[in-house]
Amino acid sequence: MRRAMSFLLPLLAASGLSFPASAGERFEKVVLDPGHGGKDPGSSYFGLVEKHLTLDLAKRIERLLVAKGISVELTRRDDTFVELADRAALPDPSSKAIFVSLHFNAHTDRSVGGIETFYWPGSESGRELASYVQSEMGRRLVTRNRGFRPERLKVLELSPVTSILVECGFLSNRWESQRCGAEWFRQIVAEEIVQGLLRYRDATE
Ligand SMILES: [Zn+2]
Repeated sequence: MRRAMSFLLPLLAASGLSFPASAGERFEKVVLDPGHGGKDPGSSYFGLVEKHLTLDLAKRIERLLVAKGISVELTRRDDTFVELADRAALPDPSSKAIFVSLHFNAHTDRSVGGIETFYWPGSESGRELASYVQSEMGRRLVTRNRGFRPERLKVLELSPVTSILVECGFLSNRWESQRCGAEWFRQIVAEEIVQGLLRYRDATE
């Protein structure tokens, strides 16, 4: 058996059939979830409030995706409170949608910094999507790459479609908070996230 396989593998590799095509997904819609909102401000440091930054970032990502012909829905468009279950319920399970939750981070240790992406444990498509997005983050920005990993986050658990949660920087870190509060930074983060989403989509080709 082993001998047969070792004989077959080069042939299969040459034909491009030896391994599944990289596990992207031809999504047609992106549901963007700006974290927090309304009575839930999220993290707040150095005069910045997470809920405002996530909404601004979501709208930047939306503009970029729409320009690429990809339809977008936001779980909120203004400073309102939306339950996690209602956010996760937005993508129709039968639709070709992916779900991207946007957050900024905080830590009691003010020296902690970097960007990281989470997916639901055991979700292979979530892991793939997280890997594509996280690998784009920091291409153009000097940042500590905290990587991507599984995390039991409620909104990821409830989402019926492939989903990730991106933590775009630590507001509790003075240096990072200054960047997070700057439009140029959020624009680059938006462009990098979009690049990651498109690479994930195009990986099916
Ligand atoms: Zn948050």
